[in-house]
Amino acid sequence: MKGTTHLAIGATIGLAAAAYYPFSFNHAVLYISIAAFSALSADLDGPSMLSSKLGKLSKMLHELILWSGVLSFAGVIYMYFVHQSIDRAFATVTVVLFLLGCVAKAGVIRNALISLIGAGLIAAGWIASASWLIGLGLFIACAPWLKHRGMTHTVWAVILWTAIGSGMERDLQIEGIATVAAAGYLSHLLADTLTPSGVKWLYPLYKKAIKVPLKR
Ligand SMILES: [Zn+2]
Repeated sequence: MKGTTHLAIGATIGLAAAAYYPFSFNHAVLYISIAAFSALSADLDGPSMLSSKLGKLSKMLHELILWSGVLSFAGVIYMYFVHQSIDRAFATVTVVLFLLGCVAKAGVIRNALISLIGAGLIAAGWIASASWLIGLGLFIACAPWLKHRGMTHTVWAVILWTAIGSGMERDLQIEGIATVAAAGYLSHLLADTLTPSGVKWLYPLYKKAIKVPLKR
């Protein structure tokens, strides 16, 4: 399944959450970022599907996301120097934008960069004693080195991702984060199940791929 398809599904889930939960602009941005990232994060593993066939539109979209990440990062630094504090939701969106920008790249440098971001999150989670952030950091640090459509495409990963989401929800005290994260991640596996190669949902307990290929 193409990355842009996953991204579109994720964004839709985020929009639905923004409509469903009590509305605020910041929460809406957060829901959409988390859902979009959750829908794509399973493909932080192995050689990216996105890198093989990047259309002109998705290339532009990808550049746009990466540069908004850079801008947003500059914003976080600015706020840190002016207010001596970092807005957590803002910082979350920054990390998400960076990773979304990276997901479409391929190669060792891309993997190392993603692992570096993961290591940064582990350190941040350690300092803030937030175990969900350490868990997220570990996921992000390890994922690039795993085989494509392997461990990140299983129910175990869904459970782990949901646990990370609920930790984040408790920490930020914003209702719905866990649900949005779980729905986003699950949407990825469901979408991949509709492709000819399918998904090994129960790997390594059950090693065969489960698939319901869409007929053209
Ligand atoms: Zn996938």
